[in-house]
Amino acid sequence: MSDRQKECLSAFENEWPYANTRYCFRHIIANFIATFNNHKMNRKLWHLARVANRAGFNDALASIRAESEKVANWLMLEPVSKWERHAFKPSIKFDHVSNNISEYFYSWIKEDRDKPILQLLENLIRKIMVRFYEKWAEAEKLNDSITPYARVYLTTNEYEARKLQVIHGRGQWYEIVDQVGLKILVNVDDGTCDCGMWQMNGLPCMHAIVVFMYKREFAHDHVHCYYFKQAWKVTYDVVINPIPDESRWPAFQSKIIEPHVTRTKVSNPKKKRRSAPDEPRAPNATFSKRCSICGEL
Ligand SMILES: [Zn+2]
Ligand SMILES: [Zn+2]
Repeated sequence: MSDRQKECLSAFENEWPYANTRYCFRHIIANFIATFNNHKMNRKLWHLARVANRAGFNDALASIRAESEKVANWLMLEPVSKWERHAFKPSIKFDHVSNNISEYFYSWIKEDRDKPILQLLENLIRKIMVRFYEKWAEAEKLNDSITPYARVYLTTNEYEARKLQVIHGRGQWYEIVDQVGLKILVNVDDGTCDCGMWQMNGLPCMHAIVVFMYKREFAHDHVHCYYFKQAWKVTYDVVINPIPDESRWPAFQSKIIEPHVTRTKVSNPKKKRRSAPDEPRAPNATFSKRCSICGEL
């Protein structure tokens, strides 16, 4: 996932030609605001990016088109599979539309950013060494079969699932009717739902959860194996050893790499990340309006 930086795009293509890549939607919105000087469509745009099924996507796009034909056409200039949830490859089980993960990492290493390269690497390896142990220990003592993230997701959706009605005869298809009368089909054998979310992130959505309630089964027995406690532990299973002091390093015969000569003005690298125009000021500013179609915020 990138902000479409030219360097990133060519690096992806050269180094990982078969990798599935995406564009951060926060970056697309920032571009949108810069291009159209319009701050009023953010909510509609985010909804468009997050909806996980084709019908919902078409509705959301039609609503944007009704407001501005130009904006709708502008959005379609980039391939939908790069930024829109319903077009992502479901086998990846990753539903993120923005790269908040790298933003978190970036703020986590903030104090180290202006250090010389060896010091930077030293600090990074120390941080990651400790972090890997902490997460591994957390997984080790976890008293659950699935990760805390998956557990919270299921609990939140269970609450919504109680409001749904299940209609079923025989076979793998279940018909779910929500409070506004919308009909959603769930296929328990394939692990798919019309809303698109179950197949996208591998966690049963509220429609699948109500089916499991109806069948008297546990939803946590139906999450994708990526969310198993064991998978979480394996992720942090690597032991990272400390690097000895530089004075203890073996003698190394190689051409000395001279520093790169640049004509830029000397100044400390910026520590503060420039925030995008639409980023909320307060970190806990939240919107609680949940979409009845995609179940997303
Ligand atoms: Zn971005
Ligand atoms: Zn669903």
